[in-house]
Amino acid sequence: ATDRAARTARLESLGQLAGGVAHDFNNLLAIILNCAEFIADEPGEQAAEDLARIRDAAQRGQALTSQLLLFAKREPTQDESVDLNSAVAGARDLLGRTLGASITLRCQTYDGALPVRTDRGRLDQILLNLVINARDAMPDGGVIQIDTDRVDLAEDGTLPLPPGHYAQLTVSDNGIGMSAEVRDRLFEPFFTTKAQKGTGLGLATVYGIVLAAEGTIRVDSTPGVGTTFRIVLPIVTAPAEAGRELTPMPGRRQG
Ligand code: ADP
Repeated sequence: ATDRAARTARLESLGQLAGGVAHDFNNLLAIILNCAEFIADEPGEQAAEDLARIRDAAQRGQALTSQLLLFAKREPTQDESVDLNSAVAGARDLLGRTLGASITLRCQTYDGALPVRTDRGRLDQILLNLVINARDAMPDGGVIQIDTDRVDLAEDGTLPLPPGHYAQLTVSDNGIGMSAEVRDRLFEPFFTTKAQKGTGLGLATVYGIVLAAEGTIRVDSTPGVGTTFRIVLPIVTAPAEAGRELTPMPGRRQG
């Protein structure tokens, strides 16, 4: 019964999502069609401007649909596992080159394997969305800190997760932070404070991926000080080795 309720809720939210995307997408298509119509009668300079608008709208449409596809694809990926640290290393390489000189990216990873129940593409999506948001929150530059760790949760009620071994990912920035109002709506599809520049799908996507991997996400933010996102995902134990420690690593970390 709970399964059916969850499925119904998911279908409802997908329905809302589809409606919202259709609306946004229609607006983008209207821009494209309008500009395309004018181009034939325009002098070169004006035509170039309209072409740039067309390209911009088409790119936003592309970002919107690829985000939507990822969001819609969030069924559990039972058979797969991927190491959180290798995803962080990959993201560090990629982002280090694209963030710009005013942003410092620091990583401190747990010294041991952190296999979690999702796939590499989805982990990349989580990291990318959190880091891009952190960058957007620091228009004058700052520090983005990505940390991983292994945590052993007891049933202490601080997180809605059963006791066990978990991988933890935190992404922190010292940016503008957010109000309680923004914090409450953060994970809603299409909620954005970035007007034309945001899709509002980034954190909704992250949320879906985290739930599918049977984990949880928390945010801690203070206006004017910064924001920390904390994601906790169960560590996958290989079936053949159930009951045995998969990662008998010392709790050391390397930075
Ligand atoms: P988008 O980035 O397209 O706006 P998201 O779902 O990724 O969509 O984020 C929703 C909103 O949450 C953002 O518009 C912003 O207001 C807020 N937000 C997300 N991450 C941060 C952050 N690190 N610092 C401050 N605000 C944030």
